[in-house]
Amino acid sequence: MKEIILVKNGELALKGLNRSSFESALMRQIRRSLQPAGRFKIRCAQSTIYVEPEQGANLGAAAERMGKIFGIAGYSRAAVFEKDLENILQNAPDYLAEQLQNVKTFKVEAKRADKKFPYQSPQICAALGERLLERFPHLKVDVNHPDLVVMAEIRDFGAYVHGRQLPGAGGMPVGTGGKAAVLISGGIDSPVAAYMMAKRGMRLTGIHFASPPYTSQRAELKVRQLLEKVAEYAGPMRMIVVPFTEIQEQIEANCPDEFFTLIMRRYMMRISCRLSERWSCAALVTGESIGQVASQTLPALVCTDAVCDRPVFRPLIGMDKEEIVAIARKIGTFDLSILPYEDCCTVFTPRHPKLNPKLAALEHAEAKLDETVLIERAVEQIRIIDIGKDEGNEL
Ligand code: ATP
Ligand code: MG
Repeated sequence: MKEIILVKNGELALKGLNRSSFESALMRQIRRSLQPAGRFKIRCAQSTIYVEPEQGANLGAAAERMGKIFGIAGYSRAAVFEKDLENILQNAPDYLAEQLQNVKTFKVEAKRADKKFPYQSPQICAALGERLLERFPHLKVDVNHPDLVVMAEIRDFGAYVHGRQLPGAGGMPVGTGGKAAVLISGGIDSPVAAYMMAKRGMRLTGIHFASPPYTSQRAELKVRQLLEKVAEYAGPMRMIVVPFTEIQEQIEANCPDEFFTLIMRRYMMRISCRLSERWSCAALVTGESIGQVASQTLPALVCTDAVCDRPVFRPLIGMDKEEIVAIARKIGTFDLSILPYEDCCTVFTPRHPKLNPKLAALEHAEAKLDETVLIERAVEQIRIIDIGKDEGNEL
């Protein structure tokens, strides 16, 4: 029996005239994401994307990957039949056996997109329902709250029968929302922030500040592994590692302790803006959440933003830690994030950071640093690492 995956677009359906370009973007993402599972024919008709395996392709592996592609509302594996009712009635029970044996109630819904099909939807439902009841006598029909909805869809290319529709990742296809640079640490928050912006269709570049020898190779590897997890959703990206030791040492030697973290954050932002310019990222993304730590009070964020020449997106700004942790668990970053490796922020932490910093005082405190030289030297020594090579090959 031939089997395919039927994909239902999410918000895409709302995009009016832009719809076809969004659908193309989604098909591109599906093609990229399915590369490791083999070759598939992918086409779109009537708001549904058809994913058909070619010789040797692994449909199970493809279905697993499908749940991580943004822009998909739901998807199902479906059996493909000739558009012949008797043929459907004979073969659909076998195809649905595994799912139906595990439920008590069901109903059949039919969609007759091909109006030339000689039976109307209620007739299809009745005939298939009857056949399933004969074959699985333990079942009962429940039209209001069935355990399983069996769908029979009569479409232009063929007839499709499927059971459970699995939820998609939602959001918009990556690549439709522009490019942003995400400041990624080894913590819980920034990978979640990256995931959330990718979900809105943004293509990401990761920027990580490392302070060897205060931070170890292992800490950097952890950040890489975190981005690999994010790339399962966000697709391939580059990770830029910026050496930050000299800047941190200079701040410690020349600036008041209470401003240390904020001055450091401002340097991170300045450098990130520079790198964003080079790689055409129109916005920055951070994992900050209001009030979470001293550098994330409103006055502190105002001071951080003052050095940025582009918008800073903070998708976690109004979330509690528990809400952030729930997403981190869902996307598989949590267990990596809690591994105890030093981050450059934790190496030099002042005991009494300012909660209500004034921009003028901060600028005065920074004055002893040679900003141009420090930034130039850091930017000259960046390293670039490719992330998500297994996720297809489109950067
Ligand atoms: P996270 O869990 O993401 O580390 P956090 O709550 O620990 O966040 P901070 O350490 O104050 O918060 O950092 C705030 C944000 O600054 C992070 O979410 C991240 O976007 C960015 N950031 C912090 N440290 C680094 C780093 N070493 N490299 C790149 N970005 C960083
Ligand atoms: Mg952190």
